[in-house]
Amino acid sequence: MSHIFPPSLIETLQSARRVVVLTGAGISAESGIPTFREAQTGLWAKYDPMTLATPQAFRQNPRLVWEWYAWRRKLVSQARPNPGHYALVEMANHLPHFTLITQNVDNLHQIAGSSYVLELHGNIARSKCFAENVVISSWPETDELPPRCPHCGGLLRPDVVWFGESLPSEPLDGAFAAASTADLFFTIGTSGLVQPAASLPLLARQVGAILIEINPQTTPLTDQMDYHLSGPAGEILPQLVAAAWPPKG
Ligand code: NAD
Repeated sequence: MSHIFPPSLIETLQSARRVVVLTGAGISAESGIPTFREAQTGLWAKYDPMTLATPQAFRQNPRLVWEWYAWRRKLVSQARPNPGHYALVEMANHLPHFTLITQNVDNLHQIAGSSYVLELHGNIARSKCFAENVVISSWPETDELPPRCPHCGGLLRPDVVWFGESLPSEPLDGAFAAASTADLFFTIGTSGLVQPAASLPLLARQVGAILIEINPQTTPLTDQMDYHLSGPAGEILPQLVAAAWPPKG
């Protein structure tokens, strides 16, 4: 589907100097990775991710949580970036300052070619020790699930941020610093329900940034936006970039 953008939006994008993009699960939906708040399919239909992605869930049933993440890790490892991810790589090439912040754990921005990504919620490809909170890159394979930390014998868990846990401080500080100096802030494919990520566009607004949301649905953030572009990111983003910087020749 072809989208028509307000001329004021295209001019704002062309003249922007400090652009910040916050992405959520929606940008990877067109790569075949299910979002959290939409229907889950298959074996896991009966489990609520909100009750699996917590330290309490892991303590109660570590094997179930490990296997749920093993299933998601497999899905993610088979997925490829979609035109939305690639359009952000291209957008960055046209702008003096560009910061990409993601809540996704799927690595697809990096695979698409985005060179510097602030990962607020970790990366599903990595594992860490539940007891020591350090990343573990290899361990002896046994039949036991989850596997055990080779240093302390504690259980291994995915290196993702679960509900109720704090975010890694380095990317979080980078995200707040970028939002507080942004002149244009995109929120793409995020439900706007998960804090503190959802407060980033509001911080940018306080310093005078223009806010743009790309999402087929409205969200709790929509009312705060200067522009809401309704539709899939994999369609809208490439068209937006082509409208702002038409391909030569
Ligand atoms: P969410 O599942 O809460 O919301 C997804 C949002 O994306 C919704 O608002 C939905 O309307 C929108 N959306 C769906 N398809 C879209 C498309 N094609 N283009 C644009 N938008 C689309 O996701 P969230 O806000 O990111 O929060 C969920 C948490 O779960 C995140 O913190 C994230 O770490 C984790 N998560 C990550 C992945 C991933 O890495 N791909 C997938 C699922 C969940």
